[in-house]
Amino acid sequence: MGVGRIDLRCDVGALVTPGVFPFPGTLGPRPDGYSAGVVSELNLILFGPPGAGKGTQAERLRKDFQVPYIATGDMLRAHVKDGTPLGQEAKRYMDAGDLVPDELILAMVRDRLERDDAQDGFLLDGFPRTREQAEALEEQLRSLGRRITAVLLLEVPDAEVVRRLSGRRVCVKGGHNYHVEFDPPKHEGVCDQDGSRLVQRDDDKPDVIENRLRVYHEKTAPVVDYYDERGLLRRIDGTREAADVHDHIRAVIATLRLEEDF
Ligand code: AMP
Repeated sequence: MGVGRIDLRCDVGALVTPGVFPFPGTLGPRPDGYSAGVVSELNLILFGPPGAGKGTQAERLRKDFQVPYIATGDMLRAHVKDGTPLGQEAKRYMDAGDLVPDELILAMVRDRLERDDAQDGFLLDGFPRTREQAEALEEQLRSLGRRITAVLLLEVPDAEVVRRLSGRRVCVKGGHNYHVEFDPPKHEGVCDQDGSRLVQRDDDKPDVIENRLRVYHEKTAPVVDYYDERGLLRRIDGTREAADVHDHIRAVIATLRLEEDF
């Protein structure tokens, strides 16, 4: 490991301490009491194909920045589990790997973003997935005087997506993720964290994965252009080790905050 990398980690860790923005070149708040010492909200979107590692990164980032993690896939699965009208409607689309209609998703996300815990920032995963959703999100935020800080695109080729998703297992209780090859549990089929059973998501089965990728390229990939045109897109190599991807994202966010401040 090179010295540059060690330095980066230290600097980034200091720069991204929630709430206080250190003056560059020092590890403390700006000495002149400059009021921009308090960072503005961090409204992030984690973007990328299914299986790009968004959930893994989100788990780390929510701890780094203390912003709520809002994953529309998780929200929908909770609705399905609880048998709500939304869940009943959404299930057939999800089982097929198709997108749930925009009007259902938009109402769900709008409500979630209005909650108190999302007022200082959020980490969206799995949304927006269509241009219409991206436009609706922009409109909602604009009406509140808010905006997206950055869209973090985790780039992973299709073949790798298939390898990752087909080996993925989730626990039935807490939704903890494993991989039969890369991240197996200590005891086969049992969650290390809560002892519950590990299962394969219906939509991680091969034919559904194929459809999810097709949907991603047809409907969701154009959203990348949407954010690129607005200068919000940041590309991250999602094939690297999770820890390296995490470092890269933190560095990106630290840079964004520097740019914002000066
Ligand atoms: P995910 O866990 O993000 O891969 O989402 C699982 C499934 O939920 C997707 O395959 C879609 O059927 C549905 N879904 C999640 N988020 C959205 C969204 N923003 N728009 C439409 N459908 C969604």
